[in-house]
Amino acid sequence: MNIHEYQGKEILNSFGVRIQRGIVAHNAKEAVDAAKELTELTGTGWHVIKAQVHAGGRGKGGGVKLAKNLKEVEEIAGQIIGMNLVTPQTSAEGKKVHQVLVTEDVYYPGDSEPEEYYMSVLLNRTTGRNMIMYSTEGGMDIETVAEETPHLIFTEEVDPSVGLMGFQARRIAFNLGLSGTAFKEMTKFVMALYTAYVESDSALFEINPVLKTSDDKIMAVDAKVTIDDNALYRHKDYAEMRDIREENPVEVEARKVGLNYVDLDGNVGCMVNGAGLAMATMDLIKQAGGEPANFLDVGGTADAKRVEEAFRLILKDENVKAILVNIFGGIVRCDRVAQGIVDAYKNMGNITVPIIVRLQGTNADIAKEIIDNSGLDVQSAIEFQEAADKVQAVLA
Ligand code: GDP
Ligand code: MN
Repeated sequence: MNIHEYQGKEILNSFGVRIQRGIVAHNAKEAVDAAKELTELTGTGWHVIKAQVHAGGRGKGGGVKLAKNLKEVEEIAGQIIGMNLVTPQTSAEGKKVHQVLVTEDVYYPGDSEPEEYYMSVLLNRTTGRNMIMYSTEGGMDIETVAEETPHLIFTEEVDPSVGLMGFQARRIAFNLGLSGTAFKEMTKFVMALYTAYVESDSALFEINPVLKTSDDKIMAVDAKVTIDDNALYRHKDYAEMRDIREENPVEVEARKVGLNYVDLDGNVGCMVNGAGLAMATMDLIKQAGGEPANFLDVGGTADAKRVEEAFRLILKDENVKAILVNIFGGIVRCDRVAQGIVDAYKNMGNITVPIIVRLQGTNADIAKEIIDNSGLDVQSAIEFQEAADKVQAVLA
């Protein structure tokens, strides 16, 4: 689950990670009130207005702006709230901005150059360990840094049995070229950041930039936080941070009915039981010359009601030219699934794309008979390759 910058910063702050302070506003008036409150708290009269959408590169798209007085706060907030923000990470239509974060300006004007670093915490899937990735080249696209100056990206892997060690945090501060107060601040920052990542069950923290102010404070200016969905049951307060306005509507609906669905760009919808088989099925579709339109794991109980819900989700996508159902009957019996498919098909009454059903496992032969005798535009298959060939034929 992705959350907004301001929510990510709330989590960081709760673990003692220093952040650029801010208050959320939903309209220009609230933004002015927020700015006044921040001035009382911090003493600075300059503020940054930051669009809160689930996409990076907001600065480039005009979603992050400096306001030097309350009038500018009002103007800029009024302009950003309600706009469709287009950034390198959004679609061409952009994302509608519903709220902004009004923050203190931490790039103190007139002072010597502030330093921006990049830092992220994530799982290294190759080693199965968490790692901290960091760079002196903060504030810009890390993808660009990785391409042009890969030697400026460092990683520090964490041994799960002991956690992040002090010497590792010091190595990071050293590699970032820090000394004195800033060095100590950075080691504290890194330790707190890592604790926050682990304790919040996050899948990704990306702080770009981490800022060294001219008075040697280290703080998070931005925060991209992804929380592991599977751990949300342990964090009811984080679960409430979900903003479904930012999410794919079909995926939101799928979650409501308990289906594991991911929207993709292709033309062949698929319905499969088991995530591994679903991935193999997507490969099969590609091999047959199609592109998967979705990932959909219906799980163990593929009864008529569930099959119908799955068909409905798949058919919301207008690009779908065919549906491939691939069910392995281990615990679930194939004949019951076949009956479920026939019932769902008849019940919906509006399916116009061909469906290829591959049922393998317990009672696969009876299942095939049920499909073949249904009189519907549903083709049956038992072997994997057979299913692929039939997909290929309907796409041709
Ligand atoms: P992103 O563009 O979506 O990654 O949003 P960021 O939160 O990273 O902000 C974009 C840029 O705005 C940063 O890289 C900074 O250069 C700038 N910025 C952020 N906070 C401040 C601030 O307090 N003062 C000034 N002058 N610039 C800031
Ligand atoms: Mn950023």
